[in-house]
Amino acid sequence: MHKVVIIGSGPAGQTAAIYAGRARLEPVVFEGGFLSTGDLMTTGGQLMITSEVENFPGFPQGVTGPELVERCREQAKRFGAVHREDVIDEVDFSGFPLRLKTGNGDWLETATVIIATGANAKWMGIESEQRYLNRGVSACATCDGAFYKDVHVLVVGGGDSAMEEATFLTRYASHVTLVHRRDQFRASKIMVDRALKHPKISVAYNAVIDEILGDDKKVTAARLRSSVDGSVREVACGAVFMAIGHDPNTKIFRDHVELRPDGYIKLNGWTQTSAKGVFAAGDVADSRYRQAISAAGMGCMAAIDAEKLVEEYEATGVLGGHG
Ligand code: NAP
Repeated sequence: MHKVVIIGSGPAGQTAAIYAGRARLEPVVFEGGFLSTGDLMTTGGQLMITSEVENFPGFPQGVTGPELVERCREQAKRFGAVHREDVIDEVDFSGFPLRLKTGNGDWLETATVIIATGANAKWMGIESEQRYLNRGVSACATCDGAFYKDVHVLVVGGGDSAMEEATFLTRYASHVTLVHRRDQFRASKIMVDRALKHPKISVAYNAVIDEILGDDKKVTAARLRSSVDGSVREVACGAVFMAIGHDPNTKIFRDHVELRPDGYIKLNGWTQTSAKGVFAAGDVADSRYRQAISAAGMGCMAAIDAEKLVEEYEATGVLGGHG
């Protein structure tokens, strides 16, 4: 039986692995991939689609998202963490030991679990968005921005992600139009200022995208509707980037740990979920801060919480050891 299994390999999962490794819990990290539901849990998490991370302490010149993940992974390996390129597809938290089904159908047993499965980008939910997905529609400027050199692109949203994506896209696009459904941004002032002062960025306020138009092969325009007077106009563009928030990867845990009404994992103080021995860290349980550093901090906390429980299990003979 494992002492701790960590599901997810972003900053929360990797930090949990570093701490659990140093605590000699021999953590196994399920890094991610496609679940049988078709959902993707990205290996390395959202940092893999982030260009420059400027606010992670210890990197005064910044660091790319993938490099940060790789460094954390190396650090976890140094302390004995085992990384598996696999997913956990099903869970059974009804008793001890906790049971987890891997991507190839095997069930494994563990004393504790740290859920660090993160969150994925949200979509608007219109049909044309899926029709043109990866043919002009994207939720990742870092991944796809370079495909749209010298074309006009739209970015949907009014949060920090939208500002970040719009600013990043100016490297390639001839022009970037931010499409926001209100006339006020929820993004932080510094990021709004940076975006709005860029000569290549303009804003369509009070506008929503009704439809994404194309020639079946690629996006050629979007139909924008005013949320003030309902008027409609077509804007020629080569791509539409969604930056409207995220959904937590909690589907497989739905009937096994308590979730909040917004779908994020509910924590009963610290990192404990409603199931004994199951802890959660990072964006899967945090809709508020959503930073690499806060996810890493929660990963540390979850590993310490798991360690305490393992010690208790060992001391009482529940788990082989000093019992
Ligand atoms: P967010 O703050 O939730 O913003 C989502 C934006 O999308 C909002 O402006 C929202 O409009 C709009 N929106 C939502 N659903 C929509 C829909 N169906 N159609 C049109 N617009 C829609 O999400 P986020 O920007 O991804 O940021 C999430 C968190 O990550 C925040 O805490 C943010 O500070 C953090 N973050 C930080 C950085 C950084 O510091 N470098 C970078 C990225 C993200 P309304 O405003 O009208 O609700």
